[in-house]
Amino acid sequence: MGEMHYDVIVVGGGPAGSATAYYLACHGIHVVVMERRAFPRDKVCGDGVAPRAVRDLYQMGLREKIEGNFNKFTGFRFAGAGKRVLESQIPPTPGYPNHGYIIKRRELDTILLEHAREAGAEIWEECLAESPLIENGEVVGVEAKRGNEKIEVTSNMVVGADGAHSAMGRATGLLINNDEHIAVAMRQYFEGVEGIGDLLEIYPEKITSPVSGWIFPVSKTVANVGVWAMRYHLKKYKINLRKSFKMFTEDSTYASVKLKNAHPVSQLEGEILRTGLGGSKIECPGMILVGDAASMVNPVNGEGITYALESGKMAAEHIIGSMKMGGKIHHDPEENSFREKLLKEYGSYFKKGTKSMKWGNKPAFIGLFLAYLARKPEQQEEFIRALMHLRN
Ligand SMILES: Cc1cc2nc3c(=O)[nH]c(=O)nc-3n(C[C@H](O)[C@H](O)[C@H](O)COP(=O)(O)OP(=O)(O)OC[C@H]3O[C@@H](n4cnc5c(N)ncnc54)[C@H](O)[C@@H]3O)c2cc1C
Repeated sequence: MGEMHYDVIVVGGGPAGSATAYYLACHGIHVVVMERRAFPRDKVCGDGVAPRAVRDLYQMGLREKIEGNFNKFTGFRFAGAGKRVLESQIPPTPGYPNHGYIIKRRELDTILLEHAREAGAEIWEECLAESPLIENGEVVGVEAKRGNEKIEVTSNMVVGADGAHSAMGRATGLLINNDEHIAVAMRQYFEGVEGIGDLLEIYPEKITSPVSGWIFPVSKTVANVGVWAMRYHLKKYKINLRKSFKMFTEDSTYASVKLKNAHPVSQLEGEILRTGLGGSKIECPGMILVGDAASMVNPVNGEGITYALESGKMAAEHIIGSMKMGGKIHHDPEENSFREKLLKEYGSYFKKGTKSMKWGNKPAFIGLFLAYLARKPEQQEEFIRALMHLRN
């Protein structure tokens, strides 16, 4: 194979990589996505596609592929904190749909990657990006293994969209292992779950606290069931998350009742989440990170698909902007920082969320808070908007 050069190499074909490639390709930019897996592929996730993410998907022209084809949710059910069970609909908010979907990542990510391909991006599946090519302190391409062949591909810019363990981020020292910004979650699919409908169910159960659980309805009988917590809480209280999952599904007050006749239909799998923009330095000369690699998960609700899509779109705009500034695609953090753009857009919301996780998931507090919300419908609406980041 001769010398290969692209305007932009995107490493990773998850939501962040597909969104970046889609928007770049729409702008006529010569872009390749290197994705180590063959699609369709699974990704450990709760599969909750929140209203904000639905808005992003519709903006990408995917309404027809999504609407009517997946289980919709229209609100939340919070159960397990004190004696209070609170059901709350997603309030109408200008600019956002008042519903979300539960879409298995095997399906969602394939739709997104194909969308980028249709827009003109080149997609290389089973291509493992091993390390960035660096010249004079600047990333100038990627060394990869495509099938069995070692290749070197050069580019004007690299976008690392390779997830929470980002090889691009590790090789350049951009990933930061700060527990304040790392959550851990596990999920398993169950068939035969009772009484699931069109609500995302969140369970801050006393028995698992400060680990919180969820039951998300994938279909009328199958649910994505999971638990999650901040890593500092797991360390402080010496919690084994696998044991918490067992307690949640078998011994909890509220969730276990719904699961008593259900049986697992997949493996129990776990993964870390990089949250609140604090787990990554995000940029170096010639390269920017997006999605989980940029620590873009919402610290309060664990939602990362939205921010993967949005940071992908912002990355494409940043790259297109660099062409307008200098004639060719390039990235110099000193002159035009991508990190600053992310901080401006999300920094304040994420900072409050990161702080609230320290005390906000204690059942005693949540019990009082839910009791208060139950009496105040308007505050309930505001709470859901804040939780789902539905404010402009
Ligand atoms: C248990 C759990 C539950 C969650 N629940 C939700 C939820 O309900 N809703 C929500 O919005 N978010 C949820 N999240 C967060 C969400 O999964 C992530 O934020 C989201 O997947 C980030 O997208 P991404 O494109 O940045 O990364 P990823 O989806 O991880 O995609 C990265 C891609 O890069 C590829 N890749 C990795 N390394 C390389 C390499 N070296 N070379 C080439 N390719 C590579 C991978 O194969 C993958 O396809 C959850 C996370 C976990 C762990």
